[in-house]
Amino acid sequence: MHTIEHLGATYLRNSSLADEVIYFGPMGCRTGFYLILQGNRPPIELKDILTDTFSFIAGFHGDIPGASAEECGNYTDMDLTGAKAESLKYLAVLSQLTAQNTCYPE
Ligand SMILES: [Zn+2]
Repeated sequence: MHTIEHLGATYLRNSSLADEVIYFGPMGCRTGFYLILQGNRPPIELKDILTDTFSFIAGFHGDIPGASAEECGNYTDMDLTGAKAESLKYLAVLSQLTAQNTCYPE
């Protein structure tokens, strides 16, 4: 999750939504992530940027951004292989995303 956090935040902060990104990071329970943006858009509108973000992570090579002692207090807790594998699984879920399954039923 930590590696996904570093790569996802880096991607999003350099994406077309860069000016709207407030936060991307793991939930405390570590069962998912929060993506907090300025504004109030329907979640389905984020399908493409999330797909791009997790495609970036799944295909990432090289040094993980921010993974140094100076930049992160837990910089040794990185698993690029695991992050890529989990991102591929999530991309399969995202491919099935519809407006109906982005919100809790009322
Ligand atoms: Zn970190």
